[in-house]
Amino acid sequence: MQENVELQALNTFGLSARARYFCVVDTLAALQGALRFAHEKQLPVFILGGGSNILLRDNVPGLVLHMLIKGIAKLSEAEGSVRVQVSCGENWHAFVTYCLAQGWHGLENLALIPGSVGAAPIQNIGAYGVEAGELIESVTALNTVTGTIETIAAADCAFAYRDSVFKRQYRGSRIILSVVFLLHRSTKVNVSYASLAQALAGTPAPQPADVFAAVVAIRRSRLPDPALLGNAGSFFKNPVIGISEYASLQQRHADLPGHESSDSDVRQVKVPAAWLIERAGWKGRRLGQAGVYEKQSLVLINHGAARAEEIVALAQAISRDVEQQFGILLEPEVQWVPGTKHGDFAMYLPQEL
Ligand SMILES: Cc1cc2nc3c(=O)[nH]c(=O)nc-3n(C[C@H](O)[C@H](O)[C@H](O)COP(=O)(O)OP(=O)(O)OC[C@H]3O[C@@H](n4cnc5c(N)ncnc54)[C@H](O)[C@@H]3O)c2cc1C
Repeated sequence: MQENVELQALNTFGLSARARYFCVVDTLAALQGALRFAHEKQLPVFILGGGSNILLRDNVPGLVLHMLIKGIAKLSEAEGSVRVQVSCGENWHAFVTYCLAQGWHGLENLALIPGSVGAAPIQNIGAYGVEAGELIESVTALNTVTGTIETIAAADCAFAYRDSVFKRQYRGSRIILSVVFLLHRSTKVNVSYASLAQALAGTPAPQPADVFAAVVAIRRSRLPDPALLGNAGSFFKNPVIGISEYASLQQRHADLPGHESSDSDVRQVKVPAAWLIERAGWKGRRLGQAGVYEKQSLVLINHGAARAEEIVALAQAISRDVEQQFGILLEPEVQWVPGTKHGDFAMYLPQEL
């Protein structure tokens, strides 16, 4: 257990903030011990993975648990498929790379997403036409209310666009320990996403390794490397609006892009937030040390010495302009820590364990 630990190197925005208490968790026993400590001291607990989806707005008043439980195990193999259990502290991209090397396919579209395996189910990470939830069989988590370990089937995870039960009913009460993926051995690939299809247009019968390489190349060309330019990926979610609202917006903005969302029975359209931000005039602009990435307006960046207030002010100015021009309220994808009404972070209040 450490005290007053600087978290700047542990969040991809590169923001400076201190954790009152900090503990590296590399075993279940260490997790249980740390939660007992928090309970005795009545400390709130924040679970930290790779820090690539958080905005550290201030010092964290309680205990930060840095999840580094490791391990990858093949559980079983059937004809054409394989079940793999991965501990929460494994690095996501390293896991995707490992699976490809084993001939376990399906995750290649999700290459190069930063962060840990344990955080992947939280917002059901997705990219290039695939979401992690499509390949998850179950999630094992510690229930901090009962102290028991639960296995939650994918069907009960309510996976949706950047959403899951872990951001809703289970927010603040489940610490993800491991995830079981059901991967396939066939070399069938998903190239439904337009820019991926375009990148592979010259490759007849693309293989999973081709998809992996293309995704890595596209991402490197379009997204800033957090090691060079602090960021947390897409800052906002793509808004999903009603079909009639979309139609009336299109009367004023004929080129407004959008595609029908499959997440609901009601007809809805997902509109690219990057387009709205760009139209609102924010592409490439900066406010002090905070800015909008010039190649992708959905990504807010730390130009070097940004303070959290500058990122927050920029996000608020963008939201205000988009709302004024389009009547659409942008919802942050990034978790604000400590929380606000914009999406408070998972704060576990441990019970007797
Ligand atoms: C350059 C860049 C590109 C990105 N591209 C994408 C993309 O294409 N698609 C996409 O979906 N996301 C993307 N992201 C966002 C981010 O990589 C993912 O959300 C990732 O899953 C976050 O993992 P993490 O370990 O860093 O989580 P953290 O940022 O550490 O935590 C995120 C949230 O999950 C909670 N959490 C973390 N681990 C656990 C656990 N074991 N149990 C319970 N709660 C936990 C935290 O408390 C917090 O609320 C990108 C980010 C960056 C910086």
